[in-house]
Amino acid sequence: MKAIKWTYQGNPFYTHFKKHFCPRCGTKVKLGYDRKIIYRDSIIEARNYDFSDLDTNWLNSVDFRTRCFFCPNCEINISFKVMKEYEEKRYQFQRKGRG
Ligand SMILES: [Zn+2]
Repeated sequence: MKAIKWTYQGNPFYTHFKKHFCPRCGTKVKLGYDRKIIYRDSIIEARNYDFSDLDTNWLNSVDFRTRCFFCPNCEINISFKVMKEYEEKRYQFQRKGRG
């Protein structure tokens, strides 16, 4: 048996209502997800993931999906964290630019 577990970083306001653009090419990004299948028995990897609220007795693996942005032009995933850092830097740069 396999389970799917969604993890969210960031709040819905940030992800859904603000416009976000690809740091690489400037295209408006869509919402996507990063996917990683972790086997319960993979000692090293499983340690980094939260299996705590899952009934692991009957599970072999969990499909961990993390929300992120997806650039349809570059075909890359951009995590919320990376996007936030990029936007903060750009904002500071714009403020500096105006003097
Ligand atoms: Zn792009």
